[in-house]
This record gives sequence, structure tokens and C-alpha cells, in this order.
Amino acid sequence: MAFSIFGGVHPKDNKWYTENCPVVEFPEPDIVVIPMSQHIGAPCNPLVKKGERVLVGQKIGDNTGLCVPVHASVSGVVKAVEMRPHSSGTTALCVVIENDHLQELSPEVRPRTPQQVEALTSQELIGIIREAGIVGMGGAAFPTHVKLSSGLGKVDTIIVNLAECEPFITADDRLCKEKPWDILEGIRILKKILGLEVAYIGIENNKPEAIKTLKRAISSKKDIRLEILRTKYPQGAEKQLIQAITGRQVPSGGLPAAVGCAVFNGATCKAIYDAVYKGLPLIRRIVTVSGDIVMEPRNLLVPIGTSFNELLEAVGHSENPYKVLSGGPMMGASQYDLSVPTIKGTNAVTILGHANRYVVEQAKCIRCGKCIDACPMHLMPVLMYKALYTGSVEEMNAVHLMDCIECGCCAYTCPAGLPLVLSFRSGKHQIRETAPAAKTKG
Ligand code: SF4
Ligand code: SF4
Repeated sequence: MAFSIFGGVHPKDNKWYTENCPVVEFPEPDIVVIPMSQHIGAPCNPLVKKGERVLVGQKIGDNTGLCVPVHASVSGVVKAVEMRPHSSGTTALCVVIENDHLQELSPEVRPRTPQQVEALTSQELIGIIREAGIVGMGGAAFPTHVKLSSGLGKVDTIIVNLAECEPFITADDRLCKEKPWDILEGIRILKKILGLEVAYIGIENNKPEAIKTLKRAISSKKDIRLEILRTKYPQGAEKQLIQAITGRQVPSGGLPAAVGCAVFNGATCKAIYDAVYKGLPLIRRIVTVSGDIVMEPRNLLVPIGTSFNELLEAVGHSENPYKVLSGGPMMGASQYDLSVPTIKGTNAVTILGHANRYVVEQAKCIRCGKCIDACPMHLMPVLMYKALYTGSVEEMNAVHLMDCIECGCCAYTCPAGLPLVLSFRSGKHQIRETAPAAKTKG
């Protein structure tokens, strides 16, 4: 039943760097820096003070409203609660923990038997998912319990996103190959919560080994169906994946639930399994550390709060990086301070050399229209770029700037090398700042 997405591009996927690198546990750092802002919504308020001892999995921050708690990823002593650089390019309040390397588990971490899990209601499961601090782990970091509670009674289709279309990243690919059962159990929990019989997994055809593993794991079951998609970027974006699998189109400014869909990343499903069965909050995640100048590209299981510097040191690089990105080269955010910590949404750190430097003498639109053909959101990037220079929020809204998913397809195809996505990001920021009552999604 797979459909094709509109627009899109075919960048070199560069998965070969790490697709055969099994996930390796990263040695626990001496210091972890845990931001109170790791998700879309209200930041957490710290629940611990300087000098306090904390245990692995202990809740150290929480808030009300659109928020999920954060937890200590190591045991040790809180050295500071202070503002620190954040991978979003801003600063955030962080709890800094000095690791005592005892890995002492919090009593809050309590596993459940399959019988106990079976007896849990939808609301109880949603509560467990919230308390475990689970967010969308594909990068968006939207609180999963909110997606679930707002989808109750509205969603008729669960889609599990294993497309991982961004170049270089293989974290989900490795997860599929190594822990398919955990993902499938997570999907069954989601099905139970939403009261649905069937769920779909969307995966691109450039991951033959993962497809084989999943096929084997679901062979006798009819409740989880695999949709193998032709590789195209940005098919892993939520709205594009819905279109590719169901043919439904999420309306401008709308949410997936508007067309009866809920999309969950594969790593999120595994985190749900860990939370429900093992009682483990989200304190570690797989990070692909790769790039064209990396000496030993790897997939690492990293405690949340580990600095990018330590990850760079672990893989080595053959020249001074031109760019270090949180995420991949299409949607990733350039980092200016490598002391920033990994957070729940950090699926990759991509380290690129100077060969990727693209110098444009005089960036000027030549009106070729390539950006329009490439845009999967049916937008007109060339007009959006023009609207930005008027400085008028009205003009920006008129060209639907807030519908931009920042996929980078337009910039990738633009022969003039215009900084389209960067400009759109700042334009969206401007809209949010100046017109808080206007559409603020995206
Ligand atoms: S305008 Fe936005 S959504 Fe369209 S291609 Fe460019 S970055 Fe992607
Ligand atoms: S691709 Fe670049 S040069 Fe071509 S129309 Fe779009 S902005 Fe202009």
C-alpha cells in the first residue's frame, strides 16, 4: 500500500560508515550535564540541589503542563545547577553530576512482570511513559504521553518510523538489527493504549539486513505490518511518512491525529518497552558518531548528558572539523561549543571536514525553480526567501513559512547556494517571537 512522497531529493546516504558497527556501550563519563530542556514544551524545574547525591534513574527535574521529567543517567553528587550551552544553540539550566562510577540504581526503577504489564490500563501505561520522560527520539522530542492521550479515540493508524532517511545516521538501523523484539513489544504497548489491532512499520529499502531481521521477528504475527519504502529523503519526516504509508495528507498547520495517524520513532518504541517492563526511564540512547573525517565511526550507547567533546575524542578525526552537527547533514544543527551535552533527541553527531565547505561568492537566486520541485511540503522556497527580506510577519505567513519542516531539500538543490533553511529557521523564530498568537507549529 506504499505511496510516494511529493518532492524530496536523493542525497548520498553515507550509511556505510556505520551500518555494520554494532552498538557499543560508551564508558560512563566522569561528569554528565543534564539539561532541564530536552523536549518540546515547558522546561523542567530542578528537583535536586548542589551537594545532593543522586542515583541512576532518579527523577531530577519535572514540571506541569507540556513537559516530561528528566532523570539522572549516572549515580554521583550534584556539582552545580547552572546555565550551560545547549545543542539548540542557546543555553539551558542544567544539573551537573559528578559520577561516582558506582552505578547505584534508584529504588524508583522497578521492573514489572508480563502479568503486571498485562493488567495495566491505557491511562496507567500513559502515566508510566510520562514518568519515564519519554519523548520522540527521532529528533523532534515531542512528549510521547501527550501524543498518546491526545490520540485516544482519534487515531486509527499507528505508524512506526524506522525510515531513518537522514544521511550518515544508522542508530535506528542498528537497533532493528540488534533489538527487534524490544521494538515490537513497545509497538504492542502502543497498540494496547490506542486500542488498535494493527500497526505499520515504515522502513526504507536501503536497510536490507534490518528488513530481514524485522520480517523474521514478525513472520508469525499479523498485528504488525512492514511497509518497505523506496529510499527518498525526507521520507522519515512525520507528515511525509504518513503520506507514503497511508496516502493521507496532514493539512497545513495540522497534526497527524487530524488524519487519524500517530507516528512513533523506533527508538521511542524501545524506550517504551524499557519503561513498562524494566521500569527504566530514558537515560541512555544510541548515538551514531560519524562523518567523512572520522577515524573510527561508531554507534554508541551514550548516557544522556555526555559531552560532544567526549564523543569526538572517542571516534577521532583526521583533520580539524569544518562542521560538527547535532543530527545529520540535512537537518542537523551546527555546534559552536562542543561542551554541549547529548540529550534525548540526539540521534547522531556528524563531523564533517573542509571538503564539505561550499563557498558562494555572490549568492543570488537565478530563478531556476529547483527548490520548488524539491520541497516535500508543496511550498515555494524562493518566495519564502524573498518574504523574509521584507521583514514582514504577514508576508512570511502568506507564503506559509510555518509549514516548513526544515528538511533542507531546497538548500540541497539550490545551485546558487542560498542559505535557505537557515533563513527559514530564523524566519520561523521571528514569527514565534513577534506573533505568539499566530500559528506556532513546525
Ligand atoms: S522550504 Fe522547508 S520544507 Fe520545503 S524544502 Fe525547504 S526546508 Fe524543506
Ligand atoms: S533553487 Fe535557488 S536559485 Fe533556484 S529558484 Fe530556488 S532559490 Fe532561486
